[in-house]
Amino acid sequence: MEEQAEERRQAQKSLGLRSLPDWYSLLGEIGPTPGQFEVVPAAHAVLERTGLDSALGGVHLEAEPGRAAGFVLDCGPHDIRLSLRESPAPALVFHELGHAVGRALNRDADILRLLPTSTDEAFGEGFELIAEATPEFEAIYGGASGAARRAHRVEGVLENARLVASFNFEMKLWEDQSAPEDLYRNCYSEMDIDVGDETLWPLDSFRSLDPVYVHNYILGRLVGAATLTFLQDHVSREPSPLWGQWLTHNFYADGAKTPLVDKAARLGALDPFLREA
Ligand SMILES: [Zn+2]
Repeated sequence: MEEQAEERRQAQKSLGLRSLPDWYSLLGEIGPTPGQFEVVPAAHAVLERTGLDSALGGVHLEAEPGRAAGFVLDCGPHDIRLSLRESPAPALVFHELGHAVGRALNRDADILRLLPTSTDEAFGEGFELIAEATPEFEAIYGGASGAARRAHRVEGVLENARLVASFNFEMKLWEDQSAPEDLYRNCYSEMDIDVGDETLWPLDSFRSLDPVYVHNYILGRLVGAATLTFLQDHVSREPSPLWGQWLTHNFYADGAKTPLVDKAARLGALDPFLREA
């Protein structure tokens, strides 16, 4: 334990931090961040590249100071409201845009417009990954080989690892609620995260909003990664409007009517994993 404490002190010193902050704030310290970018033109450019720009006719996109980080509201087929805080992270913009596009291109009506959370997050996570494969996204980071883009990739790996720790905790807590503090410490200490006062575990935003939700991101990321590979291998190697056509017909148009497991089956590879899960 003493060794770990010393390692933390060294890490803190090398990062030039007065105290080790929480996981989210630490991600921001990894490397250079992208320069300022205009959210609305960037969203248009990525949607145009992937043939989904028609969806923007029904999406009202606003990025303003004082807003919540990212929020999508479905007020009807032609009135999808996407609100972002001022200067959002690029990945967040495209994640939320995925939610908005999925709703805007949903041909279902009434209660079928209410997407299951698994499908909804597969749209968000999936479009985030698809956007990251476009030259327009690379341009925000000053090119594919730039220091900011490299830092973003490292950040992505750590963010995925954080999600997995959170997912493990969520699943174990779902099965057994007798000792949440012990579970919390065990799940997060695997990643050498100092949890501090473990009785504060309910303060994690996901636990307080919806105690069993993080699995949606894990499923969404798996389906999203398989979708990107499928598009590159079977639709067009480089991002193109053909991607949007495939996504609209196979994922977005039949919103809640086709369960995520059957949408994923259209990709082939993921079917056995999801059915076992
Ligand atoms: Zn989301």
